[in-house]
Amino acid sequence: MPKVPVSCKTCGEPTTFGPRCEPCQTERDRRRNANPYRREYHSAEYLNFPLSGKCAICGKPGTPEDPLTRDHVKPVSLGGTVKDGIRIVHRSENSARGNRG
Ligand SMILES: [Zn+2]
Ligand SMILES: [Zn+2]
Repeated sequence: MPKVPVSCKTCGEPTTFGPRCEPCQTERDRRRNANPYRREYHSAEYLNFPLSGKCAICGKPGTPEDPLTRDHVKPVSLGGTVKDGIRIVHRSENSARGNRG
């Protein structure tokens, strides 16, 4: 069954490759993978880090209201990666959630 061309969402050229033409899709994927947040929070090292034990900040276990979460020892916003280490902290204390004061 032949595919019906659609307008590329990026450049508007007709394409049967997908929602975007192949060059636009390739460029989009490249940029997405270059995004340090996406790379860091989807890396196998990060996702496989065991979510168990005690909080690295206050030393208490997680609770249903404030579960333990993975946190980059060096914030990704400052260029940190999983190579700098991952720790377990309460969700309320996770620096990735932003500084709320
Ligand atoms: Zn395009
Ligand atoms: Zn804690």
